Amino acid sequence: MSLTRTTCPYCGVGCGVLAGADGTIKGDPEHPANFGRLCSKGAALGETIDLDGRLLHPKVNGVDADWDTALDLVAQKFTAAIAEHGPESVAFYASGQLLTEDYYVANKLMKGFIGAANIDTNSRLCMASSVAGHKRAFGTDTVPGTYADLEQADLIVLVGSNLAWCHPVLYQRIAAAKDARPDMRIVNIDPRRTATSDLADTHLQIAPDGDIALFNGLLAHMADGGKLDAAFTDNHVNGVAGAIAAARASNPADTGLLPHELNAFFTLWARTEKVVTIYSQGVNQSGCGTDKVNAILNCHLATGRIGRAGTGPFSVTGQPNAMGGREVGGLANMLANHLELDNAAHRQVVQDFWDSPTICTQPGLKAVDLFEACAKGQIKALWVMSTNPAVSLPDAGRVAAAIAKVPFVVTSDIMEKTDTNDLAHVLLPATGWGEKDGTVTNSERRISRQRAFLPAPGRARPDWEILSDVAARMGFGDAFAYQKPADIFAEYVALDGAAAHIARDLDLSIFADADYAKMIPTQWPRNDHRFFADGTFYHPDGKARMIAVIAPVLAKPRFTLNTGRNRDQWHTMMRTGKSARLSAHLAEPYVEINPQDAVGIGAAHGDLIEVQSKHGRALSRALITPRVAKGQLFAPMHWTRQRTRHGVINTVTAPLTDPVSDQPALKSAAVSARVYRAKWYGFLACKDEPTPQTPYAAIARTKTGWQVEMAGEQDVGDWEAQGRSLSGQPGGDLSVQTDPATGSVRMAIMNNGVITALLFASPKPVVVSRTAINAMIGTNTPAILALAGRSPSDQPDAGATVCACFSVGRNSVLAAVARGAHSVTALGDATCAGTNCGSCKPELAALLAQAQLRLAAE
Ligand code: SF4
Repeated sequence: MSLTRTTCPYCGVGCGVLAGADGTIKGDPEHPANFGRLCSKGAALGETIDLDGRLLHPKVNGVDADWDTALDLVAQKFTAAIAEHGPESVAFYASGQLLTEDYYVANKLMKGFIGAANIDTNSRLCMASSVAGHKRAFGTDTVPGTYADLEQADLIVLVGSNLAWCHPVLYQRIAAAKDARPDMRIVNIDPRRTATSDLADTHLQIAPDGDIALFNGLLAHMADGGKLDAAFTDNHVNGVAGAIAAARASNPADTGLLPHELNAFFTLWARTEKVVTIYSQGVNQSGCGTDKVNAILNCHLATGRIGRAGTGPFSVTGQPNAMGGREVGGLANMLANHLELDNAAHRQVVQDFWDSPTICTQPGLKAVDLFEACAKGQIKALWVMSTNPAVSLPDAGRVAAAIAKVPFVVTSDIMEKTDTNDLAHVLLPATGWGEKDGTVTNSERRISRQRAFLPAPGRARPDWEILSDVAARMGFGDAFAYQKPADIFAEYVALDGAAAHIARDLDLSIFADADYAKMIPTQWPRNDHRFFADGTFYHPDGKARMIAVIAPVLAKPRFTLNTGRNRDQWHTMMRTGKSARLSAHLAEPYVEINPQDAVGIGAAHGDLIEVQSKHGRALSRALITPRVAKGQLFAPMHWTRQRTRHGVINTVTAPLTDPVSDQPALKSAAVSARVYRAKWYGFLACKDEPTPQTPYAAIARTKTGWQVEMAGEQDVGDWEAQGRSLSGQPGGDLSVQTDPATGSVRMAIMNNGVITALLFASPKPVVVSRTAINAMIGTNTPAILALAGRSPSDQPDAGATVCACFSVGRNSVLAAVARGAHSVTALGDATCAGTNCGSCKPELAALLAQAQLRLAAE
């Protein structure tokens, strides 16, 4: 089987992948981002490329249509809206999943031909605060760091970044560097103790949004101790005095940290020359995200810890092509190629180059405002590309209602059933990863090729082609006559050449003669370039700016809800949710709650928690853990209305945004929490996909079919009918056990001696091994054994999945510890866990520590 050299479609690390049409997936040993490594999500890519659930034909009002009909309608509706209500009445909402070529065409159509800037993207939710902070400090949106800097640093400070789960291969690179140089220090700053904290020498459990007070405190400490680099700031930085004065006005107590913790951190930072500060959503997704970014940049600028190997601030992006989107102007306040939308000379260069009839002159609607404009009836035609805002935006219930109000909604997507597609009039089938060709830019400015190794399924077409065909139907055919992605990339590089006289960081000249087909991963402007090495920045005077930032006054709600991500899922699970292996790790929405708070609201393990705000409510399983501080809750954002009933956590979050970047504050919603008083709880394992309508439900794939966690507030009454209905099996032999003393019900449905459904229900949370029950579907295990919830003796229950690559469960890990495996390496030798992608190593280490404590106490 020949393998194609391509790039992972998930996070901003941008790992190289060798992929085959038979589903073979390997890390690319030659890719400089990962040198052959992959995380659990990347390693499971082969399990997500099937056509199950794919959108294979255009659909108009739910009915299959041919491309001409669908595209004619899209062009006609957009043209009519523009003619009647003006260009500001239409909008595109795009995605960091798009390839650079797709993004370029979408941006060109909206800004240069429709003449509005109403194109924003889910990258607004990811790193808009970093973009704004970079521009304030450097004059450009420049990410100066490289992955090699992480390996050369003596101190890595991770702020609001659970790298172990969200950028696992970078985490592995840091872990390997620390193994090789144990003197390297790692400080993890996060309100929550995460898998990343386990690698750190110090975890600072900061108060939510305490980052400005912390970095202001650091700056003041260094200014007072004579630790600033005056030679550097005198020559290269403005705004030093103002930033220091603001820093001194901050109260370090606002960090929530103890004086000795602050002193130790400040002293370590001040005395270490090579410091890299990595930050991601914990910094960006905040009502003061841009100020947080600048508080961090201030410390690096004030000490000259930038522009040199092993130093610098480093914003790591969530999406695979968030950086590419930034480069081609895929945000509502940017022009293409790092040119400024509010600069007439820049606009003229772009308009001349595009030979376009118009060019937008003012910023368009940014994500949250865009959907608010939909709610107000201002948007008459909306095109959502490759993303799912009805789930991922804050106040997601209102966003869904807002989309439903738009007179004409078109989506282009790879999947047919999504929460957003359910609201659209026209669905356009797009090619997905493995089927499309183009480029992506990772967090260290490295442009890599995504290459097709599969044919386009059904009638699916690449996004750039769909956009170009609509543009042609709107009368702009000459400007969108691309034949292939290479044509678009060449135009993007040529536009960069046309703007070469405008001082910017973006310089694509290295790609001018690139052989697109053979392009190798390359950083712009050159692989060996180091930004700011000579102290020159991009403000008109060539200097950087330190920004005076003021720590916010922090509200103290009863509970602060922090949202984030799981190790083995990606965004709204449209692809990762297809993999039974990945779904086995944390298969249900959950909310982490501190043990004291759990006592306070009367919650026990297994209870469901109702999290509520003025925007909505969501139900999630209680995960009681000291990893979250008292007064805080954490919930992952992945679950959709397709996968849960009442489990969409963004129905609770508030549409509050950073005033500079307009990025939503998704990590600090003021909420209440209480135990959901269910009358019954249920667990169902079955062969066919269920569609439960119970008050609470969460479904997930398993290796043998599907599983459902359920609960309800009303007595069920007829459990036999309910079991048949939930499992979608009106026929088959039924075995039922009831226990009047406990009120529990156990039920098996068998067809020709094979188990096709098992249901366990109880007035209390169901205690049964999910792994063991799921494993019995499709077997001829005797009903009496199955209803006892016991694995056959020759198939011991592995327990909840820890290692997704080799499906190693918790029970297997604990058994290996009991047999004498006393290190993560030894656990790997005994069980294979952690020996492929390594993403589970932090969990293995935690399990090992717990088990050893228990053994020592016995
Ligand atoms: Fe993909 Fe994992 Fe690499 Fe991110 S770290 S690019 S998800 S393989």
